[in-house]
Amino acid sequence: MATQTFCAELTGSFSTSAAQNPTVAIMEAAFADADLDYRYINCEVPPADLAGAVHGAVAMGWRGFNCSIPHKVAVIEHLDALAQSAEIIGAVNTVVIDRSSGAPRLTGENTDGQGFVASLRPVRDPSGQHVVILGAGGAARAIAVETALAGALSITIVNRTPERGEAVADLIDTRTPAAGRYLPWTPHLHVPHGTGILINATSIGFHPAEDQTPDVDMSTVDPGAVVADVVVNPPETGFLRAAAAQGCTTLDGLGMLVNQALINARLWTGRDLSGAVMRRELESIFGL
Ligand code: NDP
Repeated sequence: MATQTFCAELTGSFSTSAAQNPTVAIMEAAFADADLDYRYINCEVPPADLAGAVHGAVAMGWRGFNCSIPHKVAVIEHLDALAQSAEIIGAVNTVVIDRSSGAPRLTGENTDGQGFVASLRPVRDPSGQHVVILGAGGAARAIAVETALAGALSITIVNRTPERGEAVADLIDTRTPAAGRYLPWTPHLHVPHGTGILINATSIGFHPAEDQTPDVDMSTVDPGAVVADVVVNPPETGFLRAAAAQGCTTLDGLGMLVNQALINARLWTGRDLSGAVMRRELESIFGL
């Protein structure tokens, strides 16, 4: 009889609420496709139990875990080190538990923005580009830092709440080589001339409010620009439809999600899993 083990390597996610997060489905499909004896467990963890969950993952020999809302900042005090972009962004979405030198060492990474840049590269190299980002929350901050580190010339943050927008613009200006600017979100926003990449990093358009779109005058967007949306449900948002009608190249939020999961899987397993398998799984979940 072939040697068989009954103890899979464990990974997973801590968040609340966890029920609508499809990451478990794409990770498990890709693990199975690669014949890897790994599991991904989606856990409902309230803020008061975060410390217990982290200690539990270490005690149970987990390889690592994702942190989603509301733990991305709170988890930092439980870690031993931060990777460069997690340190600049000030938030962690992925933790790697390394036991190669004996005692477990927990490193926080932020792969949200890296996933976005990986999905962007096949259609547009961010290097030398002027980028406009709608939003200044966690996703916007991660995308802004990572596109700046990937060589963008300028990052303009447009946000409803000026203080949050100014803070992200400031972060880009002081901590990355790109120029960071804040632009107030005036009605029917005119996108600055020369913008090569425009990103909706707000939650506007997310199910069940898919009839809402960011208030942007799409006729001011250069047809040569790439227009991206972080919203995953539905993947084809009204914002992307309007951009396509303007002649722009569009990028949906599924690409960011898949690429982020591929990076996380590589950090935990050392293997490159199949993005096509993950994307197919998501398309079947969303009935595409
Ligand atoms: P946050 O709550 O941190 O930020 C939300 C942002 O959206 C803020 O800038 C907020 O503006 C803005 N916003 C929300 N509603 C409105 C509105 N009606 N009008 C104008 N601005 C608005 O959320 P996250 O950054 O964590 O997430 C944002 C989106 O990104 C979500 O839809 C999330 O699902 C998606 N996401 C997708 C990922 C992917 O892999 N595709 C990964 C991570 C997130 P203000 O500051 O004024 O409140």
